[in-house]
Amino acid sequence: MKKISVTLDGNHLSSHDVCIGKNILDRIGFLIAGSGAVSRRVIISDSTVASLYGEAVLEAFGKAGADCAMITFPAGEESKNIDTVLAVVSDLTTLQVDRASELIALGGGVTGDIVSFVASIYMRSIPYVHVPTTLLAQVDSSIGGKTGINLPAGKNLLGTFHQPRGTYIDIQFLKTLPEEEYLNGLSEIVKYGVIEDTTLLDLLENSIEDIRERKPQLLRQLVERSCMIKKNIVEMDETDRGLRRILNFGHTLGHAVEAESGYRVSHGKAVALGMIASARISEELKYLTHRERIRIETIIGELGLPCQIPAKISTAGIISRLKHDKKKKGDALHFVLLKKLGVPFMNGAVEESLIHNIVEDLKQ
Ligand code: ADP
Ligand code: ZN
Repeated sequence: MKKISVTLDGNHLSSHDVCIGKNILDRIGFLIAGSGAVSRRVIISDSTVASLYGEAVLEAFGKAGADCAMITFPAGEESKNIDTVLAVVSDLTTLQVDRASELIALGGGVTGDIVSFVASIYMRSIPYVHVPTTLLAQVDSSIGGKTGINLPAGKNLLGTFHQPRGTYIDIQFLKTLPEEEYLNGLSEIVKYGVIEDTTLLDLLENSIEDIRERKPQLLRQLVERSCMIKKNIVEMDETDRGLRRILNFGHTLGHAVEAESGYRVSHGKAVALGMIASARISEELKYLTHRERIRIETIIGELGLPCQIPAKISTAGIISRLKHDKKKKGDALHFVLLKKLGVPFMNGAVEESLIHNIVEDLKQ
């Protein structure tokens, strides 16, 4: 098992470890229960993950002699709302969960976001741990302490920062993950390689077959290296004031494509398209070389992620969404671009006409 320490602002209360291993599920009860004096633990999971792993995780806690209850909610992004929060909170009060208790988020990003949000506001905040079961949650959302739920007006509009007491990653969970969800995580791993570590890109290029076969040894390396990159960035900018924005590489245009498609294009696929667009803008502005740009597109394509925007998605619609991006400041369209591979930067203003042309070029 690999342990990565996340050290935050010298604040020992929010600093914690990310533990990564294969088959740590059996030991997860001992690992989590053995690392804190907690009166009551509640596992919170969506219906799909609960039926796949709920019993095994409860059993693992039982073996460790830890008192543990379980709450479930319907699987799907539609659950990431205030109604689910209130339903979970109501169950917590029935279970007499108090500030000496701990929540365990067992599931993907949706579960992680809901549980961390609940933990941050229930009785003015209680501890929680992440047990991420999707590749995306393992390499991204379970590190960094962001919490959030959606409102009718938009995604993640209600949220806080609340660091977990620990993150426990078992590669074995990925065996049952649907292909689309797997691709979502791979896209984020490509992002880490592109913005931070070209040796991670080498590893991706040389392991396409093993990635397709979900070889645990390789997945473990990819997850460990991605977590390391994310933790380094989070440590330098815990509350997303500056540096952490480089993690938005591919996401500005990605979010616009995702939303404009009515969420039919998944997050990972949209981010892959966003990364390609950013690479093309970077080449057009004479930062990135042609070879580097092609390298990014080739990796994306070989992993089975899309390199073209579906023709029926409106270019004007995408541009209009970019202009209304909640992270946008003033009139300029901000993008994370690349000086070269591994060197991202925030660009103050990209011409709308350039974005228009690049989106059109990317259409099938
Ligand atoms: P993310 O935000 O990390 O992509 P979600 O929480 O939206 O993930 O989960 C995506 C879907 O995958 C949900 O339907 C969830 O129930 C399901 N899921 C999560 N983990 C697993 C797993 N290990 N095996 C099978 N299905 C899973
Ligand atoms: Zn993302």
